[in-house]
Parts: sequence; structure tokens; C-alpha cells
Amino acid sequence: MPIQKRTKIVATLGPATQDRNILKQMILEGVDVFRVNFSHADYKNVEKTIKIIRELGEELDTTTAILGDLQGPKLRVGIMKEEVVVEPGDTISFCTGEEFEGDRNKVYMNYDNFPKDVKPGERVLLDDGKLMFEVIETDGKSEVKTKVIQGGPLRSRKGVNLPNTAISLPALTDKDKKDAVFAISQQVDWIALSFVRHAQDLKDLQAIIEAHSEYKIPIIAKIEKPEAVQNIDKIVAYCDALMVARGDLGVEVPAEEVPLIQKELVLTAKRARIPVIIATQMMETMITSLTPTRAEVNDVANSVMDGADAVMLSGETSVGKYPVQVIQKMANICRNVENSSLIRVPQEPPHVRTNRYITKSICYHAAHMANEIEASAICTLTNSGYTAFQISAWRPDAHILVYTSNRRILSRLNLLWGVKSFYYDKFVSTDETVEDVNRIAYEKGFVNKGEFLINLAAMPIVDKGMVNTLRVSQVK
Ligand code: PGA
Ligand code: MN
Repeated sequence: MPIQKRTKIVATLGPATQDRNILKQMILEGVDVFRVNFSHADYKNVEKTIKIIRELGEELDTTTAILGDLQGPKLRVGIMKEEVVVEPGDTISFCTGEEFEGDRNKVYMNYDNFPKDVKPGERVLLDDGKLMFEVIETDGKSEVKTKVIQGGPLRSRKGVNLPNTAISLPALTDKDKKDAVFAISQQVDWIALSFVRHAQDLKDLQAIIEAHSEYKIPIIAKIEKPEAVQNIDKIVAYCDALMVARGDLGVEVPAEEVPLIQKELVLTAKRARIPVIIATQMMETMITSLTPTRAEVNDVANSVMDGADAVMLSGETSVGKYPVQVIQKMANICRNVENSSLIRVPQEPPHVRTNRYITKSICYHAAHMANEIEASAICTLTNSGYTAFQISAWRPDAHILVYTSNRRILSRLNLLWGVKSFYYDKFVSTDETVEDVNRIAYEKGFVNKGEFLINLAAMPIVDKGMVNTLRVSQVK
């Protein structure tokens, strides 16, 4: 068996990933999760692609997950009549209300309360911060006059960031609500929310999921606003994973602050035992080139060494020239560093005595015991997937093999570091089940004869209750 990659790769879908064969190659090279970016998604097309991905799952016996990523309150300028190049010192107005074609005096902005919320002296950043403006005055109704600080081409529909302004837009726009309902109808495995500011934003999304889905769909909070960094402890309590969304984050806060924020966010996620994804510009040059820069290779490697569960590709796969090769390169980087002893995620044992305390404690001890006795795999039976999160967080050397009869979590768990999941629906006696799952682990090539395995189960098996049993067995 080839060395299994344990860090997960999230690849964004787009025009470059329409072809079934490309998707197949991407999965074979190491994609674990495909991301639908609702900023640029056509429902018909998404439906078709998701169908292909699920068919490939059957064909290849893999469990690739689908992540639906909601745009959130993303600000944009309108269409420009012609390309305008602005120079430092120029003045230009951002206007709301009826949409119009912009010129060098006025551009449209899709945020009605902008003139009310903004104050003189605040910054307006455009096109990933390439252009910078300072607010001179606002009429409080429909027009905000600004001065150009950093110039450049002002193009149609470019994104706007307002790092100093308290934005009064709701976390979920009407578009997001519609996209969320569509994503739920497609049974996506994860839903991400952009520009999260407070825990309430996540509760709002959760309410939509509850209203439209029989099943819980876990939420990824994209951290790309300074408010989110400040409120991170509360946010972590209301989401199931974090994404360090460095694209917008690096515009909203000075880019030089992003590396430390990344490290802090990874630590926060690992203490909460939820997965964390590092996103944006990881292999950016591979959009057009077959070779990543040394800096990019280092960035991916360092993110893995920080303790990231997953690394993400955006333009590299959605519009890039080399969607398959970039996966191959990224997977190689992950494989080369992920087993290094330099990677240290927090190992403080669980101590809060919630109703899950015993399960958490068993998972913690299973992971540490597996390292101690050099077990080759930890096999866990789960209905909710909870134990997969708990074991993965400790980063044991052993394979983490998850068996479930709940088809809804099979591919979902694929985002988790080191986790492989299998469908298993025989719940007879503990003895038989343990033998069964160990045999599957052996047949799939994860363990060899004579090696130790750790089995976690809830006894009695038929009750499908919380894990309460740890058993050590040897492959016969
Ligand atoms: P986006 O999120 O690609 O949806 O903007 C990622 C980021 O901002 O880094
Ligand atoms: Mn973003």
C-alpha cells in the first residue's frame, strides 16, 4: 500500500474541473473534499458535478466530501463603463441605491447602508487591497466621497473590504439563504459561512439548516474579519470546524499579522478538537505554472506543521491550468512533513465533565495508548462521528479507521486529519464486530499480521450508545 496521506486536501470546483476524468484524477491524486464556492456557482452545474463526484465515489470506493461555501456579506463595486485607472490624490465617490455604470467620478457599491455606517478617515480597500481609499465625507444617505491613497486599475465587480467599519449587513444575505437551502437539498457534507463576525451568525445558519434538513450538517466558520479573531472563543463554541481564510483576512488585517493569527487559530481549533483548514494562495503560481515557488512549498509544509487538518486550493483548481498536477504536488508536500515529530498539537487531556466526558477520555487514552504499544490502527464504531473528531484531534501515529452504518457521515468525516471511514452495518455481538472490523482493516491493507489494533465500541453493540469500551487485539 502506498503511504497514506493523512493531511486532507480541499479543492475548489470551477470551470477547470468540469470533466469527469479530471475529477477522477484529482480524487486519485489526493483530493478529500470538493468545495462549491457559491460566489460563482450555477445550480444546474453544481448539481451535475456533485452527481459525478458521488458516482466516482462508488466507482473508486472513496468517500470524497462536498463542502458548500456561502459567500456571506461580501461587498462589491458595480460594473464600470470603461476601465478607469485611479491615481493617488484623486477623489472618487462610492454610491448606493439604484445600480449604475461607474466612471472616474462615481462607482456603484452593493451595500445600501454604507453611507450611514462609514466615518471619515476610515479605509476602503478594493480588489484584495490592491487599491486603497480614505473616506473624506459621507452624506449619510447615498454617497461617500473618498481620496485615493493607493491607485491602480478600478475594475468591474471587484470585492471591497472595509477593515475599520462596523458593517450593519446581516451575516446571511438573501442569496446566502437561497444558496444554503440549495446546498442542503444537495445533501452537502459541510456548509461554510464567509465573513463570520459573531457566534450569532452561526446560530442563524444553524436555524436554516434545522428548518430544511432532517440531519445536522456541520458548519465551518471562515475567519476573515478582525471581529471574528476577537470573538474566536465564542465562535468556536458554535461551529464544527474553522477555516483560516487568508485571502480576505490578509486585506482586513495587515498581511504581516496573518501568520501569527494562523498559528493561534490552529491552536484554538486543536484545543476545541475541531478540524481547521488553511486557505488561499497556497500554490497560487500553479494556476499557470507546473512548478510552485519554494515559498509556496514552505507555506503548505508550515501549515501542516502548525497542525492544520486540511489545506485548501482555490483558483489553482477552479480556474487553473493544472488542477490534477497541483493536487499531486500538494499531496507530496503533505506526505513529506506530516509525520514529523516537529508537529505538536496540544495534548492536555479532556477534563470538563460533560455527558461526553467518558467517550472523550477513552478516545484520548486510545490515541496515547496506540502510540505507546505501537498499534497500527484505532478502529471505532460510530453513529454520529463524534469519536472520529475526538481521536483525530490527538494525531495518533496509528490509522484512524471509522466504521459506521450512517451514510450521512461517511464522506463528512473525510475532512478530518488521518480519518478513513467505511460503511458497516452489522451490529451483532461485540466479539463478532471486533473480528469483522479488524478483518476489514487487514483486507484494506491498513494492518499486517501480528500487529496490534485498538477497538473502540459502545457495549452492548446493539444499543448504539456512547463509546465505553477500549479493547486491544492482535491481527491474526
Ligand atoms: P473565499 O474565501 O475564496 O470565499 O474568499 C477564502 C479566503 O477569503 O481566503
Ligand atoms: Mn473570503
